[in-house]
Amino acid sequence: MGVWEVIKVGDPRLRQRSRSLPRVTSEIRQFVDDMVETMYVNNGIGLAAVQLGELLNIIVVELPEDEEIPGSGKLYSIINPEIVKVSHETEMGVEGCLSVPGFIGEVERPVMVVVRGLDTRGKPIRIRARGLLARVFQHEIDHCNGVLYIDKLTAPDRIWTVKEGEEEQAEVEQALPAKTVA
Ligand code: ZN
Repeated sequence: MGVWEVIKVGDPRLRQRSRSLPRVTSEIRQFVDDMVETMYVNNGIGLAAVQLGELLNIIVVELPEDEEIPGSGKLYSIINPEIVKVSHETEMGVEGCLSVPGFIGEVERPVMVVVRGLDTRGKPIRIRARGLLARVFQHEIDHCNGVLYIDKLTAPDRIWTVKEGEEEQAEVEQALPAKTVA
């Protein structure tokens, strides 16, 4: 197990497409463990492999039950994730990204998605998600395609700076829903 450095916007790898894996090996399982540990250390709720500099189609997502306790939610580790269905209904939400530190921005996304992929044993899985969970899946799968949330802002000025570690105090409009850091 180990914590990796998260690469930041400006690094060209964040703009590349990750490649799918033909099978899930023990090396991949080890790497997924490192992804999870890195996500926890950074208080993230999602992470894509490219954020550690590896252009592999892998995401990890976990919404903690208790915000103060990383690892308190249901963990999803998905190899070769793809979105196979989205709702027509969309909603606005505020997102942040460990690769775009110091900012949060407003993005409109489908409320519901169905994600397909493999679990860490290589077994096919299919997950139906709504709300914040659906949002995080979309954010992470975008990373696998070289897309960042800042590409999808509802308007160019719908982005705000936040001080590191003080996201909760960010003075964003009160009507905005909770932030996402992924
Ligand atoms: Zn991100």
